[in-house]
Amino acid sequence: MSSTFVIVGAGMAGGKAVETLREEGFDGDVVLIGAEPERPYERPPLSKDYLRGETERSGPYLQEEGWYADNGVTLRTGVRAERIDLSARAVVLEGGEQVAYDRLLLSTGAQPKRLPLPGADLDGVHVLRTFADSDAIRAMLERGSGHLAVIGAGWIGCEVAASARQKGLDVTVIEPLELPLLRVLGPDLGAFYRDVHAAQGVKMLLGTGVEAIEGSGRAERVRTSGGDTIDCDAVVMGVGVAPDIALADGVLDVDNGILVDAGLRTSADGVFAAGDVANHDHPVLRERIRVEHWANALEQGPVAARAMLGQDVVYDKVPYFFSDQYDVGMEYAGNARPDDEVVFRGSVGSGEFIAFWLRGGRVTAGMNVNVWDVNEHIQELARSGAEVDRKRLTDTDVELAEVAA
Ligand SMILES: Cc1cc2nc3c(=O)[nH]c(=O)nc-3n(C[C@H](O)[C@H](O)[C@H](O)COP(=O)(O)OP(=O)(O)OC[C@H]3O[C@@H](n4cnc5c(N)ncnc54)[C@H](O)[C@@H]3O)c2cc1C
Repeated sequence: MSSTFVIVGAGMAGGKAVETLREEGFDGDVVLIGAEPERPYERPPLSKDYLRGETERSGPYLQEEGWYADNGVTLRTGVRAERIDLSARAVVLEGGEQVAYDRLLLSTGAQPKRLPLPGADLDGVHVLRTFADSDAIRAMLERGSGHLAVIGAGWIGCEVAASARQKGLDVTVIEPLELPLLRVLGPDLGAFYRDVHAAQGVKMLLGTGVEAIEGSGRAERVRTSGGDTIDCDAVVMGVGVAPDIALADGVLDVDNGILVDAGLRTSADGVFAAGDVANHDHPVLRERIRVEHWANALEQGPVAARAMLGQDVVYDKVPYFFSDQYDVGMEYAGNARPDDEVVFRGSVGSGEFIAFWLRGGRVTAGMNVNVWDVNEHIQELARSGAEVDRKRLTDTDVELAEVAA
């Protein structure tokens, strides 16, 4: 009898998983369920080229529209799965329909947080996660004028600020910490990004919280904890995401996401999780990590598919991500902690450098800024766990490949 594999969450991880099932020759039924009215697409362009109107609507999709039917995948978009019935091995959709599974993958991603502020529900207050969110903000960027207030100087906030400035908007970024990206990158690199934005004319209000968003019917001003009032035409809240564990809560083991082992198996037989929602027992880093980045979803999806097929797989890639702001491109690999020491190869002032995070003489992460074709070596260093010679690591006359070898 043919078996049915159900995937809930039609984003990057879910989309890649169904592609892999077919590539691996699985000829049973595949059902991909997604709450958004979209086939799987990638989100990074939504704060970058797509937001600025430089990429067509068709650009971010993983596959052509016909691919799913052509490959025998039942794609059900605009439908939310409401609950999992483990004993019946079925997913219950909104409206009560049951979809039985032999194997189930949860790739439900993450939901953007909204600060519970007075005025947070006014028109013109956006978060940015979906095509629909990006379309709404893009309409303002297309006009090329107006004032955008960005709450939160994490990756999404910084990228939206950069795109809006590039389109000619006035931009104010309001961030409670003293520097942008401080928690992920630390003070030296936070200062680097602050200066990048300031040089482009972004007003950075740092060390400042937000008390309220005000306006009659729509957002017209942001009132800060420092007593400032910033007039604006729209607000983007980039204050982080939370893993979407609604289906798993009370059914599977969860703790900051759905707990999975090295092979992406959850606590229930035949149920797997991948992407932003999965809190993974990493076999190389020897700790649990939940990664909210594109490459993790791209690469865990296929590994989850192989695990569903019964193959003996583990996911062991070190975390990797990238960001583009103005003409500053970066890639980061590894998993540094806030108290790791940071050393530089090349000068931060030149705008072309590599930062390394070190713990006990070992590289925990590295970030190349406007230096290319080196990230593979950074990944090797972050994986190896071997002590490095810091003089050679930071000496631009020594090839990084040699240090990594
Ligand atoms: C604007 C933006 C820019 C980004 N830029 C970068 C970048 O430059 N570099 C980088 O590394 N990463 C970036 N990311 C992060 C990256 O896009 C995510 O890590 C990635 O999308 C995670 O993929 P996923 O498949 O796990 O989840 P998602 O892409 O979130 O997909 C999950 C899907 O599941 C659906 N779903 C949830 N619950 C249910 C349910 N009960 N029933 C049905 N469907 C459900 C959701 O609606 C969603 O469509 C960016 C993210 C955003 C939003």
